Amino acid sequence: MSKESQNFWFILDNYVHVSVRGKSVLFYNTLTGKILEYSDCEPVSRLVKRLNSPRNLLVIGLTGKELANPEISRFVKSMRTFFMGDLIDASLTKGKPMQMAPYPNIQQDVEFIKKSPQGPIAVGDRMMKYVAEVSLFINSACNLDCGLCGSAHRQFLCCTRGKNTRTELESRSIKNLLQQLQGASLARLNILGGDIFKYSQWEQLPEILTDPALPTEKYLYSHYLNLAGQEHKLAQLPTDAFSLKIVVPFPVKKQQWEEIMNMPLLNRPGTHFLFIIAGETDIDAAEELITRYHLENHSYHPFFNGRNREFFRQAVFVDREDLEEARPTMREILARQCINPLQFGTLTILSNGDIYANVNARRLGAFAGDSIYDMVYKEMFRGSSWRRTRKKAAPCRHCTFNALCPPLSNYEYALGQNNLCHINPRT
Ligand code: SF4
Ligand code: SF4
Repeated sequence: MSKESQNFWFILDNYVHVSVRGKSVLFYNTLTGKILEYSDCEPVSRLVKRLNSPRNLLVIGLTGKELANPEISRFVKSMRTFFMGDLIDASLTKGKPMQMAPYPNIQQDVEFIKKSPQGPIAVGDRMMKYVAEVSLFINSACNLDCGLCGSAHRQFLCCTRGKNTRTELESRSIKNLLQQLQGASLARLNILGGDIFKYSQWEQLPEILTDPALPTEKYLYSHYLNLAGQEHKLAQLPTDAFSLKIVVPFPVKKQQWEEIMNMPLLNRPGTHFLFIIAGETDIDAAEELITRYHLENHSYHPFFNGRNREFFRQAVFVDREDLEEARPTMREILARQCINPLQFGTLTILSNGDIYANVNARRLGAFAGDSIYDMVYKEMFRGSSWRRTRKKAAPCRHCTFNALCPPLSNYEYALGQNNLCHINPRT
């Protein structure tokens, strides 16, 4: 029998992510990180269309004649070389081989919930389970005047004075919130200010922090300059009830820094330094502090100040190698197509009582008047943060890399562009 009259099965492995946008096709091997791209290759586009058909489940028949086409032959060879697919002589199999195609089936899939046959009431029962992280800005009072105040907290967790009007969350309302969160899968609670040590109901914090409804991960955020002289206030809180996150913008004030380095609180388990980085010199300065003071727990938080776009281009923007190295799993890829894993389940309550799924998006409601249940419901069905995916955002929605790139973060808001990448900078 001549090779052209032979029949084959071509199988695309189900750990391969395929993305088609217009005439471009991308294959990504979730096990090895290998990416293959085809642009304007009609025979490959046609094959992918057949592979993706629900009837074919990633397995299609190929005739020897089709395989004689050089473009198809090269494609099949590459798929085999990079362990993305295989070709089987049809005469050696009894019928079409079976392959399970992956599809988004994560619990949080909102579309699934919307179609729940039990209707919105049953959906509502599950609603609070989605709340995983709550950030409470308990007050706005602060005597400092940092240049980053008012914008840093829109990029990462950081204190803020807000609009300079002194506001506080009532401890009674916080306790009420904790009651509402009892059915939630809350994994993390963040408490921030202003200067949290100026919170007028500080004596209520021990009770709040030890509420049995709370997760084990509880963090108190303070600028390092606000920590000086506050050891006695921290001592009023149960030691194992929280970890301390110390915010450090640059340049640091040497004398006050030394003072803080001598405080015994540094020996608290879990004390963590958040270095705010606006440029290369800040990285050098942070490294020097880490080395000199043996700071074990620390992280870097790039800060966009409106003048350092070039620094972001170099330090934050992703390129193809970054994506291959990051090697997102199929599970992550599927999740990213439905939800924003960075933002899903997070709620922020500012000291004036405004509630947000993301402080850069529209306000969901007011702490005093609305129930958290209503806020979560609103965000799940009409919100723009938890389900803010690259698949929906311009220009990423036209790009084959949109499930491989990291989920949209707050930096895209800050820089005013979604394509923080060197891959499709102008799409
Ligand atoms: S310490 Fe925090 S709240 Fe105070 S001015 Fe600086 S950034 Fe704003
Ligand atoms: S355009 Fe968007 S999806 Fe495409 S590579 Fe850039 S950031 Fe990623």
